Amino acid sequence: MSNFNAEYDGPPPLRIERQPTEQTLLVAWPDGLEAALPLVELRAQCMCARCVDELTGERIVELDGIDPAIQIDALKLVGNYALKITWSDGHDTGLYTWPHLRRLSQ
Ligand SMILES: [Zn+2]
Repeated sequence: MSNFNAEYDGPPPLRIERQPTEQTLLVAWPDGLEAALPLVELRAQCMCARCVDELTGERIVELDGIDPAIQIDALKLVGNYALKITWSDGHDTGLYTWPHLRRLSQ
């Protein structure tokens, strides 16, 4: 962990809600933190091997390469540690772990 913020290791979000009209994903955390994450930015923060080069850590998918009208087609919990998002552009290999989502919520 190279961040100055400690990695979040608290409980999972209480609520995760799609807000298609606002084009955001609402994430509500047990400690009261609530964030409406813009979908384009959320899509740009995908950490999967197709979006980030595993060797160099370089981001392959950039913000301006993302459909500005992107939506979430499906949400699925993976175990108790991550959220899997199926995007309207067909991308579905990214997992958003709680620490990653938490970072994006702050
Ligand atoms: Zn990805």
